[in-house]
Amino acid sequence: MYKRVLLKLSGEFLSGEQGFGIVPEATDKLAHDIVSALEGTDVELSIVIGGGNFWRGARNGQGMDPATADYIGMLGTVMNAMALQDSMERAGKPTRVMSAIQMAAVAEPYIRRRAMRHMEKGRVVIFGGGNGAPFFTTDTTATLRALEVGAEVVLYAKNKVDGVYDSDPQKNPDAVRYDQLSHMDVVEKRLAVMDATAITLCMDKGLPLVVFDIFQEGNLRRLFAGERVGTLITS
Ligand code: UDP
Repeated sequence: MYKRVLLKLSGEFLSGEQGFGIVPEATDKLAHDIVSALEGTDVELSIVIGGGNFWRGARNGQGMDPATADYIGMLGTVMNAMALQDSMERAGKPTRVMSAIQMAAVAEPYIRRRAMRHMEKGRVVIFGGGNGAPFFTTDTTATLRALEVGAEVVLYAKNKVDGVYDSDPQKNPDAVRYDQLSHMDVVEKRLAVMDATAITLCMDKGLPLVVFDIFQEGNLRRLFAGERVGTLITS
């Protein structure tokens, strides 16, 4: 059974079918699933949430200064972190939002040792603001924060895809799913799991990853219990 886990969520999970912004029902459902999966376990959880439901720097900011476009993206992740916090607390779980970009009125500043203390006290820490630096994505944030707080694994949540395939299962009906891969396999086969910076950092530090479908009933609970779900990526 895992003791400390980092869960990476995409911003688009908060927007449901709408595909943009925050849809309260979708956020509540996700929060409820996470909180109920934690019930009865001693897992210490932190979450990195993306911002793709609002803005992706490189894609939406064409013509802009790329760093400015990325900062806009980071601010989007803080809105998501606040929405998720609200939903998780209404579902009964104490949480703290920590932002990599100082925003004292709405979130604590990210302080590593404080984040770990929150987790020890049973609070879920939601990391907003990405790394606080442009030219990264929240995939890298997930890896970085997991390493910083001593998480044993990054649970990399997907929607409608239950692991890593040799080709896109939405386009190729014969795509084959891997149960287990090495970090090097992901890099060499150029599997579109997460961005290259993030997977390389996982490889360098030997940080395991699990790619799984978060919307498949029971998956999170099974993962928190240490069961095999989706695709495991290890060194
Ligand atoms: N971003 C950034 N630095 C970071 C994390 C995020 O500049 O450390 C920006 C980047 O523009 C990115 C956007 O925030 O496109 C939203 O994050 P991401 O695309 O990772 O969100 P997700 O796809 O997980 O919802």
